Amino acid sequence: MTPVISGPTGKELLNAGVKTSVDEACLPVKVFLGHCLTLRNRCDCFLVPRLVNINRKDYICPKFMGLPEMTKQAVGKQPLVIWKSEKNCALGSPQAVPAALRQGFSARRIKKGLQKAEAAFHTYHRLLQQGLFPAEAEQVLGGGAPPAREKNGRRIGLIGHPYCLYDPFLNLGTVNLLHRYGFAVLTPEYFPPRQIEDELQILAKPLFWTMSQRIFGAFRLLCKEKVDGIVYLSAFACGPEALTGELVKREAKALGLPLLHLVLDEHSGEAGLVTRIEAFIDLLQRKRRFSCV
Ligand code: SF4
Repeated sequence: MTPVISGPTGKELLNAGVKTSVDEACLPVKVFLGHCLTLRNRCDCFLVPRLVNINRKDYICPKFMGLPEMTKQAVGKQPLVIWKSEKNCALGSPQAVPAALRQGFSARRIKKGLQKAEAAFHTYHRLLQQGLFPAEAEQVLGGGAPPAREKNGRRIGLIGHPYCLYDPFLNLGTVNLLHRYGFAVLTPEYFPPRQIEDELQILAKPLFWTMSQRIFGAFRLLCKEKVDGIVYLSAFACGPEALTGELVKREAKALGLPLLHLVLDEHSGEAGLVTRIEAFIDLLQRKRRFSCV
């Protein structure tokens, strides 16, 4: 099989995803369906993950779990191959590989392929932990050098789900804007998972959702890193966000850390977002000047 990959997110793609989704779908699901629709005439079938667990004790959100059904609804008759992760059957385990992909390959070859993929994934994550963003990490893996950035020695935290943080169309160029202001931008991927897990010990009850754990744990680590402030990007109609957002807001208030919470949806406009971020940066600069007096 030859994989066909969709291009970057854009307005047309998003509109197609919005049209085909149910109203309750969150923005990233709409974007995902838009990507599927752009591939409809270019492939024979779709490989869709059904993520249930990626860690033993917590879960991926229900909208993620229902992705294959929503994709089926959007693409019609085109067949789906579902790659399923469940308890005791992680995405990287040989039993999770769909039968359609296993055909013609020995168990040994499949295992070797998965190990190779895991090693590449860890290399990629190590680059993210050095403060690179996905496009830059890919550039480095391809043999290039990361772009030089103007730095003012200041750091800002950026938290949220990875699809909100790393898709420049979805976040309307937030990362570039922060870089243009000279900030080093730290995201949850900057921290090793073990460190994030340790931060969750302060919670009286464990958080049910994997992504929420990452956001909350990274938020606490960013506070310890003494960043100037934190920008929290969340997606409209995200269920787990209702709880995570509240936890983060309360913690930021208790610690006196400036927090800007932005909710992204298909109607978000660049001008409005830029104005809010610039006002936040202005506030951080004033706070710094004030604390130096
Ligand atoms: S975690 Fe939130 S944004 Fe992500 S798929 Fe689930 S509902 Fe959507």
